[in-house]
Amino acid sequence: MAGKKGGNDRHQCHCVFCGRSQDEVELMIETPTAAICSDCAAMAHEYCREALGEGKSVAETIRSNGRVEGDAKMFKPSEIKSFLDQYVIGQDAAKKSLAVAVYNHYKRIGQSAEDDIIEKSNILLVGPTGTGKTLLARTIARMLNVPFAIVDATVLTEAGYVGEDVESILTRLLQDSDYDVKRAEKGIVFIDEIDKIARKSDNPSITRDVSGEGVQQALLKILEGTVVNVPPQGGRKHPEQKMIAVNTENILFICGGAFEGIERNIAQRLNTQVIGFGAQKKRELIDRDNLIQYIAPQDLRSYGLIPEIIGRLPVLTHLDPLDRNSLLSILTEPKNALVRQYEELFALDGIKLRIQRPVLEFIVDTAIEYKLGARGLRSICEAIMTDAMFEAPTSGRKTLTVTLPYARERVARYAGRMVG
Ligand code: ADP
Repeated sequence: MAGKKGGNDRHQCHCVFCGRSQDEVELMIETPTAAICSDCAAMAHEYCREALGEGKSVAETIRSNGRVEGDAKMFKPSEIKSFLDQYVIGQDAAKKSLAVAVYNHYKRIGQSAEDDIIEKSNILLVGPTGTGKTLLARTIARMLNVPFAIVDATVLTEAGYVGEDVESILTRLLQDSDYDVKRAEKGIVFIDEIDKIARKSDNPSITRDVSGEGVQQALLKILEGTVVNVPPQGGRKHPEQKMIAVNTENILFICGGAFEGIERNIAQRLNTQVIGFGAQKKRELIDRDNLIQYIAPQDLRSYGLIPEIIGRLPVLTHLDPLDRNSLLSILTEPKNALVRQYEELFALDGIKLRIQRPVLEFIVDTAIEYKLGARGLRSICEAIMTDAMFEAPTSGRKTLTVTLPYARERVARYAGRMVG
């Protein structure tokens, strides 16, 4: 048996499990008749340990190793959720729905072409901006190590109009897979701001709605599964480029949107539903402060999504607004939490960083005060830490403690910039 590093020796052998060539893996273990790459060998090892009841689970392996390239089918919903838990705070309903949808999606990919029983489980995440929709989609893609693309639905227009054609969605995915079409065809696309392509008016005949209903119509086929001719460099600037055919049947689409104001539609539906016997009791049970949790397909329809699009996004789930405690957790708990990142940055200069608890509370309260949400935590932290990061490498100090007065002073100085 021989172990070979990918690199200079370009002898072409492929891993019997994942099919990748020597050039694509870190280490290939060969026998005269077969080869296995180091990633698959590690997964197989873990699988055996787990099956035999000892050692860590596959999810724990991923947690400790970061990325594992492998067979996505191997991850059970609970493993997917526990991976998400490391990076995303709260949002349990969305995590569960996503985990199950992804699990089923890869089961579907595994079914033979003739069976074709399991339908696609594209997902729609509804929740306020900055609550983790993109983060969830990105984290899932990272766990599965599949190509991932984020596109903004607001730039899309119906073919022939100013803006991007819907095919450009797939250009990004191709780019992320280094133009490996087979990999791209099993990737994940996150379409952000899907709510912005809601029908603009109830009367479609006034003017052509090229960025609203027109885009929804154009998206239908892609979401469902079709072969699309994709311009590899995107756009219309390169008319000479040769198109690449991409089959979207096994691409998982996760759509996200804030659907601002949809609470009105939900409230209206709930009010009409709870008329009759026991209505008062049902009404009392409704949590009026977080109506988004009751979202149903009818609400999307009354908001302006066409029924066909709703039908192609069968997994509908919501994200909760982030409260003060969640924001505090976001600062410190995720594996790549902001506080941990700063600690690491300073540690690289040999400095032990301590950020006092009142500072963390102050950061969160400032984010809430300026209505910046989770996204604002970063800019507030930067405002506080920039001077220290500038001076630390040459200061010769071994420890640094950030206190509340220090943080307050920095934020006061940068406040104008943050709000702007
Ligand atoms: P959106 O819901 O608008 O897609 P994002 O996922 O882009 O929001 O969140 C913006 C940033 O805020 C993320 O990169 C992350 O740093 C932070 N964040 C938001 N929600 C969460 C959460 N639930 N857990 C951890 N971090 C979060």
